[in-house]
Amino acid sequence: MSETASNASMTGERLRQARRIVVKIGSALLVDPETGRLDDLWFASLVDDIAALRARGQDVLVVSSGAIALGRGHLGLKEGSLRLEQSQAAAAAGQIRLAHAWQEALGRHDIPVAQVLLTFGDTEQRKRYLNARGTLETLLKLNSVPVINENDTVATEEIRYGDNDRLAARVAQMVSADCLVLLSDVDGFYTADPTIFSEAEMMTEIMEVTPDIEIMADESATDLGSGGMITKIAAAKIALRAGCHMVIASGRNPHPLQAIESGAPCSWFVADRSPARVRKQWIAGTLKPRGELVVDDGAAAALSDGKSLLPAGVVQVAGDFQRGDAVIVRDREGRELAHGLIAYSAGEARRIIGRRSSDIAAILGYQGRDELIHRNDLAMSLRGP
Ligand code: GLU
Repeated sequence: MSETASNASMTGERLRQARRIVVKIGSALLVDPETGRLDDLWFASLVDDIAALRARGQDVLVVSSGAIALGRGHLGLKEGSLRLEQSQAAAAAGQIRLAHAWQEALGRHDIPVAQVLLTFGDTEQRKRYLNARGTLETLLKLNSVPVINENDTVATEEIRYGDNDRLAARVAQMVSADCLVLLSDVDGFYTADPTIFSEAEMMTEIMEVTPDIEIMADESATDLGSGGMITKIAAAKIALRAGCHMVIASGRNPHPLQAIESGAPCSWFVADRSPARVRKQWIAGTLKPRGELVVDDGAAAALSDGKSLLPAGVVQVAGDFQRGDAVIVRDREGRELAHGLIAYSAGEARRIIGRRSSDIAAILGYQGRDELIHRNDLAMSLRGP
């Protein structure tokens, strides 16, 4: 193998090694603009690739565009660009068909499919974000593939993404994915628009979205996709900040995910930290703690072994906080052990501390999480000698 070819397949490793992958598919790939119908053969090959990732034990979430493109023909909205309310109507007619197509295709591989329609607020407002995240986590735990789109029918001009590139990046961040694949009809990120400048070159590895890259994105904007390169670069910024690698790759040929793995030319945006590390830094450094918990020696030892914090090990609760807020965890001597995101409000926490997790349902009247703070939501503080 030549050096370039072996480097290329090395980059395919990022997809092979990922634990959790978000795949975004652009409308232009899914729907034939002439007929307004789904490209069945291509679609089946993409779904085969997704099934292969699932069979290897990787979690997959799909962000699928195509509702508007599929729906417009059904409503007789054939020609030209659509007004907002027409796009929303087209999305309503198209989404049902899109979801059905995914269900049929993944169903052939015995993979359950679940439709999730998100609005901008669902990803930007903390409470809704936490709920959406919880649902997606549960769907993945139940071995299904969530198929996500923007809820175009209710999103108004001011509060919509309008492009699925950024939505996909926010989803990747939400579920701590380690790889985001943007499949569209462009095969990568170029130094300039390759259809105009013959000297334009594809950048294969990008470690940081610098102002120069943003300028290039602006210049290489074409009318391909809803946002062209600008939204893809905005997505890259979100993904890299979340510790998620992102790849811009062509989806034009059959088996587009297999092609990335075998080293087809594409542009990788390479994250320098893992999603787990980013999340812990965010919990420890960015969020303002709203309360404090004091834990007994057994719980303190369990925490330093990397375990979750159970209600049984907590002796005191201070402060007024909501589910999902950050709190500080201290030992009996008042030394800070960790920061964490708590799964119960202050009032609920006060009622369940010192009790077994199996008693939570009887005490609160509903079955919440067994852990007061799950280990994924704990960032241990640095201890001196
Ligand atoms: N949500 C739109 C649709 O499904 C697509 C947005 C985009 O092209 O990025 O039709």
